[in-house]
This record gives sequence, structure tokens and C-alpha cells, in this order.
Amino acid sequence: MSRINVMVPWLGQEESDAVADAIASGWVAQGPRVARFETEFAASVEASYAVATTSCTSALHLALIVIGIGPGDDVVIPSFSFVATTNAVRYVGATPVFADVDLATGNVTAATIAAVLTPATKAVIAVDQGGVPVDLGEIRGVTDPRGIVVVEDAACGAGSTYQGRPVGATAEIAAWSFHPRKLLTTGEGGMLTTTREDWAVRARHLREHAMSVSAAERHASVLPPAEEYGEVGYNYRMTDLQAAVGIVQLGRLPEIVARRREIAARYQAAISEIPGLRAVQDPAHGTGNFQSFWVEVLPEYPVDRDGLLEALAHADISARRGIMAAHRQPPYRELTPEGGLPATERLTDHTLILPVYHVLTEADQDRVIAVLRALGGQ
Ligand SMILES: *Cc1c(COP(=O)(O)O)cnc(C)c1O
Repeated sequence: MSRINVMVPWLGQEESDAVADAIASGWVAQGPRVARFETEFAASVEASYAVATTSCTSALHLALIVIGIGPGDDVVIPSFSFVATTNAVRYVGATPVFADVDLATGNVTAATIAAVLTPATKAVIAVDQGGVPVDLGEIRGVTDPRGIVVVEDAACGAGSTYQGRPVGATAEIAAWSFHPRKLLTTGEGGMLTTTREDWAVRARHLREHAMSVSAAERHASVLPPAEEYGEVGYNYRMTDLQAAVGIVQLGRLPEIVARRREIAARYQAAISEIPGLRAVQDPAHGTGNFQSFWVEVLPEYPVDRDGLLEALAHADISARRGIMAAHRQPPYRELTPEGGLPATERLTDHTLILPVYHVLTEADQDRVIAVLRALGGQ
């Protein structure tokens, strides 16, 4: 019996060849392949501009800077997210304000955001948690009239849809991740997409040390022009080696999403017949890519979440605890709202993430389902 991991990236010979070509070209840092990856990614999510970065975390950091967030500003975010969402707010000196999430989707909603708005709220970061599309239109109905900008943290969202369009297409600004735990990977890597040219230009500038002359421009001239560094910038550049992989992976995305949705449907069908388990579903407003296929272990199930995790581990199946709650981590505990975040805490404590990946076989999936059934007394 072999180990079943929670996630295995799908990489092949084409990715290896693409990296070999980049190396042979002699241009390995940010260059033509990054530019092409940006163009193709922007087209795939119907965004006007795309700026490649080192990670979603750095894309979130740049997004908050270009929309003008700083000390004294409140930024409403879900605690129910990977800690990077909260950390990005702290990077710019602003204050994270935690909103609770909807139990069905794991996402913030117009109502949970409206409940925590303050006069100092300047931005919201809305996460497509686990690839479930967030209801951005409903949220912007609350935030747009107040001049509050919504950053979509679409780290998990590539390949999901919202109201019939790709996730991210209706965002003013969004951040994406290409970490191997997400659907398409460049090893590490991220992207910022936006509808606004001024934000894209500034993000591009800040990503490259705020240098007045880009590396590409310097390379193009024999006598390099003198450069200036007009503000404090960052090195958030993606490499052409990563972009070479990203271009191939982006081409595979529709197939990856289709396969993941097939696997998810098989889990959903099996789990619907096991009392005490509740599986994540598509919301009415879109379709998910099942980046994280989560299951809630309800009180009527014979064992609790950790008991089920242990049983899976015993069968050499590596599942994961549910998505974390940032307000329980040491740097953010003091920001826990009075009364806590009941839905966030329930999902964090009672959900687990099952293995879903492109090359997961039906036989392996059946092994996972067999454990869920056996413990459920079926
Ligand atoms: C993974 C993830 C991030 C961080 O992405 P990196 O590319 O690893 O920086 C941010 N937000 C969410 C919601 C994520 O799931």
C-alpha cells in the first residue's frame, strides 16, 4: 500500500523542456518569458494588466501599497485564511480587522464585512478560500459606495468561475499564487492582476527596486542610462525559469480543473451517504476548482476531526486539518473580536482537507472513501 499525499503537482516533460530552453537562451532572470506569462495569464482571467511576482504574499503586499493603504488604515480580512493574508496588512503598517465567514463557503460575505466596518476601513481582502469563489459583486455592493477597495486574494482561485466568468475577472485588483499547493505551479511565484493601468505601472516599478530603468531596458542598451530609485522598492521579480514552467502549466489548467471537479464529484456523492460528514459544494454564484476539498466532521459522526485524521494516517493517507484561523496565532490574538469568530472557529476545528490532485487514481480515492465509511459505521 503506497502513501496518498494531500496534493501532488502535475508537472511533465514539457515543463522540463521549457526550463531547458530558458537556460539555453541565457536569460534566466525576469525577461521575455515573464512578459509572455503575464500576457497569457491576464487573458486567461480576463484582467487588463498582470504583474508577475515572487509569490501571492508579495503580490498582496504590492496591491496594498498601490491602492494606498498604510498606518492608521483598517483592512477587513477573513481570519479563516492562510496567514499571509493577514501578514500583508501588517507589512504596510495597517490594522487587520477580522470578519467571520459563511459556513457553507468558508468565505467572507457582504454581511460579515458590513458587521465590522469602521470609519478607518480603507480596504477589504476577499479570499476565494480553497478555490470556492467569493461573492465579490455582493461585497462590492457594500464597499464601492464607501470608497473601500476590495483586493481579491485569489491565491487558490485559478480556474474557478464567478457568475460565468473566470474568478478575478470582476476584481479591481487581485493576487494569485503559484505555490505547488495551488492548481498551477511555478515552484514559488505569484501574480497581481488589475483593471487599472496606474496600479499596474506602480506595482511593476516597486517589484524591481523602484528603479527608473528596468533590467530589460538596461540590457537593451550598450551604454546603460543612469537610473534613479525614486522610492523604497522591493525585489519581487519572478524568474524566466519560473515563467517558462508557468506558461506550460497555464495551458494545462482547464484539464487540471476538469479532473479535480470529477474527483470532487465522486467524493461528494460518497460523502452524501455518510451521516455526520458535510462536503464543500459549489455556491450558487459560481464553480470551484476544489483547490482544497474540505469536509466538516459533524457531532453525529462517531469520531471527531482529529480522530478521522489519525485513522486516515493509519491507512497511509495524508489529509490536512482545515484552513487555519489567523486570529489564534500569537501575533494576532489581541485582534480577536469580542465573541470570537464562531463560523471561522467551527470550520477550523471541525474540517479536514482530503487528497485531490490530477493524478489521483480512482483506486486511491476509493481507499480514502473506505476509511470515511468504515469510521462512519458503514
Ligand atoms: C497560499 C495562499 C497565500 C500565499 O501564497 P504564496 O504564493 O505562498 O505567498 C495567500 N493567501 C491564500 C488564501 C493562500 O491560500
